[in-house]
Amino acid sequence: MLYLGCHLSVSKGFENMAKEALSINANTLQFFTRNPRGGKAKDIDMDDVARFLKILDDNGFGKIVAHAPYTLNPCSKDASVREFAFNTMKDDMDRLDSLEGKAYYNFHPGSHVGQGSDEGIKLIADVINRSVKPEHKSTILLETMAGKGTEVGRSFEELKKIIDLVDKNIKIGVCMDTCHVFDGGYDIVNDLDGVLNEFDSVIGLKYLKAMHINDSMNTLGSHKDRHQKIGQGNIGAETFKNIVKNSRLNKLPMCLETPNELEGYGEEIKLLRSFE
Ligand code: FE
Ligand code: FE
Ligand code: ZN
Repeated sequence: MLYLGCHLSVSKGFENMAKEALSINANTLQFFTRNPRGGKAKDIDMDDVARFLKILDDNGFGKIVAHAPYTLNPCSKDASVREFAFNTMKDDMDRLDSLEGKAYYNFHPGSHVGQGSDEGIKLIADVINRSVKPEHKSTILLETMAGKGTEVGRSFEELKKIIDLVDKNIKIGVCMDTCHVFDGGYDIVNDLDGVLNEFDSVIGLKYLKAMHINDSMNTLGSHKDRHQKIGQGNIGAETFKNIVKNSRLNKLPMCLETPNELEGYGEEIKLLRSFE
């Protein structure tokens, strides 16, 4: 059983989003917790959320993914930007409790903007330790990054260092973005199992909780992060076939973040299901 879905908008409500997912044969989904560039989150309508959770339940959805805004940078040089990251993460985690642990909370670790990755890693862990509580129902996920600019999280080692500095009782995992790891230099095209073995030895596969399924406009190790439609980039359809057939990956929720509208996402979900 594959859990496949895509990035959707929650702007018309949670129930509406679940119906959109159903219309393209998705059984997971991802949404932004608020405007991707930041800003205030809408109040949660608990009746809407209850109808949403019932649809997910009735249709056998896997875990879903709530994505933090891109502007969140817990390792900025600027203390006020770090404070924004703290406030946003805390508020998002509080609000996500209404989804009863059904949603992971995924975020980009951040960009150290010249302070060096070790300093960045310390700042990221500090924001997590202050904003996330063991009582929160959602598990937080660090997303693997392409290594654009001064992004932290381009290597499994960096993600492992963050995890090691986070309080042991906080629920934490990793979301692997196929475009990002490929652009980051991990050759999932020629050696998917080798990459997974490396992930296992550095971080531990039990930390791998979700996947972002994107092809890449750029080449291995390019550190660019430009997503492409499935099969139209440098990763290629064959690799996505290997991914959905891989027993270490194919029970995880997989969300597309390809340049598509709803219909295009539906076609990609159909394609990926045909590979199973
Ligand atoms: Fe992301
Ligand atoms: Fe992603
Ligand atoms: Zn990306």
